[in-house]
Amino acid sequence: MKREVIVVGGGAAGMVAAIAAASEGARVTILEHKEKVGKKILATGNGKCNYTNLYQSMECYRSENLPFVQEVFSHFNEKDTIAFFQKLGIVPKAKNGYLYPGSEQASSIVDVLTMELKHLKVEVRCNEDVTKIIPTKEGYHIQTLVRVLETRSGAKQNGKNKKKEKAIEVDSYVAEYDAKKVIIATGGRASEKLGSNGSGYRLLKEMGYGLVPVVPALVQLKAKGADFEQVAGVRCDANITLLVDGEKVAQEEGELQLTNYGVSGIPVFQVSRYAAKALYDQKKVTMEIDFLPQFGLDELGALLCQRYQESSYKTDHEVLIGLMNDKLITLLLNKAKNIDPYGTDCKRLAKRMKQFTIEITDTNGFDNAQICAGGMDTTELAGVTMESKKHSGFYIVGEVLDVDGICGGYNLQWAWATGYLAGKAAGKKLKLHE
Ligand SMILES: Cc1cc2nc3c(=O)[nH]c(=O)nc-3n(C[C@H](O)[C@H](O)[C@H](O)COP(=O)(O)OP(=O)(O)OC[C@H]3O[C@@H](n4cnc5c(N)ncnc54)[C@H](O)[C@@H]3O)c2cc1C
Repeated sequence: MKREVIVVGGGAAGMVAAIAAASEGARVTILEHKEKVGKKILATGNGKCNYTNLYQSMECYRSENLPFVQEVFSHFNEKDTIAFFQKLGIVPKAKNGYLYPGSEQASSIVDVLTMELKHLKVEVRCNEDVTKIIPTKEGYHIQTLVRVLETRSGAKQNGKNKKKEKAIEVDSYVAEYDAKKVIIATGGRASEKLGSNGSGYRLLKEMGYGLVPVVPALVQLKAKGADFEQVAGVRCDANITLLVDGEKVAQEEGELQLTNYGVSGIPVFQVSRYAAKALYDQKKVTMEIDFLPQFGLDELGALLCQRYQESSYKTDHEVLIGLMNDKLITLLLNKAKNIDPYGTDCKRLAKRMKQFTIEITDTNGFDNAQICAGGMDTTELAGVTMESKKHSGFYIVGEVLDVDGICGGYNLQWAWATGYLAGKAAGKKLKLHE
C-alpha cells in the first residue's frame, strides 16, 4: 500500500508533524527505530519538559541562516506552541518565563501527543530503522530494518524478588514502503540512547544535501590549567567569558560546576557550542572565570588588603575563609605565599580570582550533549513549509537542521514549529486518499 505521508522519527518534531499532517486529512505513518515514540522528550527539563519559553529573541538561537529561523517563528511562535498543547490538554505553568506542563511531568507531553496520534489514526511503527530513502517518479521508496524483539525476564532488581522484563532482539528483516511525501524528523546525534544517532545526517548526505559541521552543544567542557581533581564537586556562582584565539565570543553568569575534568553547569552549557565549533576549526579556546562577580576588581583588591591587614595572625588561606569556597581558596592561592597586604599582591590575587584562565581542550562527547550545533543547511529548504528545494514532497524538520537554541525551551520550540509547519504543508498539498 502506498502511504501518503511517512514521518521518519517519532520524536518532538516528528510527532507534531504527523499530527499536523493527519489533521489536514492525510493518512500518516511514523517510522521510529526505538521501541516507543517520544523517548527524548521524557528526559527533557529534568523530567519536567521545559517545552517553550515566553521570552523569545533571535539571540536565543544560533544558525548559519538566522533570518530563516526568524521567518519560521513568524509563522509558528511560542504562543502557537502554548495553544497547540493547550488544545491537547496541557495547562502551561511558567517559571521565570520557562514553560512546563502543569503536571511538571514530561510524560504528560508525550501522553497527549500519543493520544492525539491515536485519535487521528496515525500509524506508528516502532523498532523500524529507516536505512535508505530513494526518490521515485511518484514519491519516495523507503527501506527499513525491522527489529524483532522478544520480552525476557532479566536479573532480579536491587535484590528484590521482582524481575525486570527486558526486550531482546532476536531477529531482524528488511521492510519496504512507498510514500508520496516524506518528513525527515530524525533529530541530530545527541544522547544516542534516547534515539537520535546521526542517521538523519547520513540519509540526507546520501540524497545530496549539504551539512554544516555537526558538533556537540549544551555540553560540559574539558579543560587544563588548574588542578581540577582538587576542586571537583565545587559549585559556585561565577561569570564566565569564552575566548577564541584571544577574542571574546560569549559570556554567561550562573552556577558553575567544577568537575575532575573541567567545567559544567548552565553557563558552561550556554557557551559550549562556540567552544565546540572553535575546537572543530582547531582554534585556541580559553575561558576566563570570575569567581567573585559581585565585586569590581579594585573593590576586591581593597577588600583583600583590608582582610590581610586586619588578620595578620591568620595564614593566607585562613584570611580568605568565608569569602569563597574553601577548595577554591587552595586553587587560587596555589603559588601565592605570604601575601604582602601593603604591596601589589592583593591586587594580583584579586585579578586571579576574577580572571582565572583555563584552556578548553575538548567538549564531552555527543552522548553527554543535550543537542547538536550544525546540521543540514537550511538554505536548501524552499521556505517555511520546510520542503526541500531539491526534492518536491520532501520535508526536513527539527534538530537535524542547522539551528540550535540555548537552554530554556528553545530547542523544543524549534522542533514543534518546524514539525507543525511541515506537517500542515505536507498534509494540505495532497489530493487526499487518491
Ligand atoms: C537530557 C536532555 C534534556 C533536554 N531538555 C530540553 C528542554 O527542557 N527544553 C528544550 O527545549 N530542549 C531540551 N532538550 C533538547 C530537545 O530534546 C531536542 O532538541 C528535541 O527533542 C529535538 O527534537 P527532534 O524531533 O528534532 O529530535 P528527537 O527528539 O531527537 O527525535 C528524533 C527521533 O527520530 C528517531 N530516529 C532517528 N533516526 C531514525 C531512523 N533512521 N529511523 C527511524 N527513527 C529514527 C529517534 O529515535 C527519535 O525518536 C533536551 C535534550 C536532552 C538530551
